[in-house]
Amino acid sequence: MHITRQRPASVQGPAENFAGTVWLDEISASQPATRLRMFSVHFAPCSRTAWHTHPHGQVLHVTEGEGLVQREGGPVEPIRAGDTVWIEPGELHWHGAAPRTFMTHIAAVEAAEDGTTITWHDHVDDDVYPV
Ligand code: MN
Repeated sequence: MHITRQRPASVQGPAENFAGTVWLDEISASQPATRLRMFSVHFAPCSRTAWHTHPHGQVLHVTEGEGLVQREGGPVEPIRAGDTVWIEPGELHWHGAAPRTFMTHIAAVEAAEDGTTITWHDHVDDDVYPV
């Protein structure tokens, strides 16, 4: 075992894949032998991901605040601290903060054999996001 206390610099979510201000901190416990990738993702109010899929699905665990998640064809659903969301492999979805509150979640995914963890699609339309 080893303990990592030195945090890598936070990375801002790029504008082509995120709307608004989103910061990502990788939880750097991943070793070459595992394809597990974990991030703590911090969404400013009103910010969110674009639509996307994950090859092996995704676990989201909300640690702070209130946010929103939507799967293709489903309603926009509220999530809050303590909630855990399972996204199916290949399921088109987005997640983000609520309109007036920050939201932080842990995001865990398993990379595909080629290293892919996410496939990006279009941004969430403004008429879908409930401001
Ligand atoms: Mn996702």
